[in-house]
Amino acid sequence: MRIVMMGVQGSGKGTQSKLLAEKLNLPHISTGDLFRANISQGTELGAKAKEYSEKGQLVPDSLVIDMVAERLKQDDAANGFLLDGFPRSAVQLAAIEYLADIEKAVLLELDDDTAVQRLGGRSECSKCGILYGANRPPKDAGKCDECGDSLKERTDDKDTEAIKQRIAAYHSEINNLVQYFEWKGVLRRVDAATTVDEVLDKVLVAIKE
Ligand code: AMP
Repeated sequence: MRIVMMGVQGSGKGTQSKLLAEKLNLPHISTGDLFRANISQGTELGAKAKEYSEKGQLVPDSLVIDMVAERLKQDDAANGFLLDGFPRSAVQLAAIEYLADIEKAVLLELDDDTAVQRLGGRSECSKCGILYGANRPPKDAGKCDECGDSLKERTDDKDTEAIKQRIAAYHSEINNLVQYFEWKGVLRRVDAATTVDEVLDKVLVAIKE
């Protein structure tokens, strides 16, 4: 199945994408993760992406589209994939529909105030990649539930101004995507204001409809 996950930052999109991809045995392709990996490895793409992501801005469409197109050529994506954080603009939407026929687009719905509140306390395990937040706190403060490693705060979440800019950018772009996927008949809306397990159950039901 070819799935797109959408949702405001803080809606649990990253966590749900990871869990859903595991359940369905699909590669989880997160553009945010791909950029962070490129930035930490000091690649040319990472250097370009850093200029934008540090300010809470979207990376130019052409860079993101080339990166996703390359990733989709890999063998593991031949029979389906789960895209997380892409498409995020009308141009990216046109590109993905040109590259692959999206079968389900899941929209995790959450109000902005709850999103900002959740974003304030986000942290990540750099070893396992698990994201922790208000709806999924670590059992031991500051430590990963799986491996016990120290958790790192997501640095771009520290800056409230960047958070607000990212939410504003999300709203200005997402409307077109939602309308398009709704027209196509593949949009599935899921209330994201509950626990991780409850949301995952609802998503699993929604994509079968
Ligand atoms: P995320 O983890 O999804 O919030 O992404 C982190 C940062 O990566 C964003 O603030 C953008 O700078 C960049 N990014 C991720 N996905 C995209 C995309 N589809 N289009 C443009 N920029 C993106």
